[in-house]
Amino acid sequence: MCVGQRCPLPIPYADKGWSPESRARSCSLDGSKGHDIDVERDVNSLGTLIVTLQRYCPQCGHALATRRVNGADRQACIEPNCGYVHWDSPVPVVAGVIVYRNGLLLARNKLWPPGRFSLITGYIDHKESPENAVCRELYEELGLTADSARFIGHYLFRDQNQLLIAYALEAYGELKLGAEIVEIREVSLGALTRYDFGPFEITRAIVHDLFASLSVG
Ligand SMILES: [Zn+2]
Repeated sequence: MCVGQRCPLPIPYADKGWSPESRARSCSLDGSKGHDIDVERDVNSLGTLIVTLQRYCPQCGHALATRRVNGADRQACIEPNCGYVHWDSPVPVVAGVIVYRNGLLLARNKLWPPGRFSLITGYIDHKESPENAVCRELYEELGLTADSARFIGHYLFRDQNQLLIAYALEAYGELKLGAEIVEIREVSLGALTRYDFGPFEITRAIVHDLFASLSVG
């Protein structure tokens, strides 16, 4: 496992000699990690828990109300002496392109329709580095281990107010699917560049940027 620091993959993918038969997979449901009771929750189209509304002030317990603050409508405390504002900053989420044996793995979340695959994703735990988080998600969702995580880029998922931090990981071990994953698809390196991710535009961008970095690296 990589712990606490960025772990560049030691060998460029192009040197791995992948066959046309490989695999990869996608986003995971992560409903267990959210804020506490003062929020409304929902599950987005990617199968990820989202917090849509905070109802009460975490500082004083009064209700929050919509107010215009710094040019945007925000949830703010109704108690004049408190001043709390829920800034609703983007939530960081890690995403992993998984290199495994002779190819790459894509995953289908149990909430997705048949034929829809993408990357592994998940929230970052308390005080956890994103590199560690993506390695942990790999283990939790696929039962695989990675010694390194190569940073690809970060992407703003506006619809869900999430900041995706994407990595490529070289995984090993035996596949064992977590509770949220119902299907794995193996794709070759070449096939991934042409893969139809449907509405998952960010997944498409991550894959594009990964291959762009490999071609210049
Ligand atoms: Zn307050």
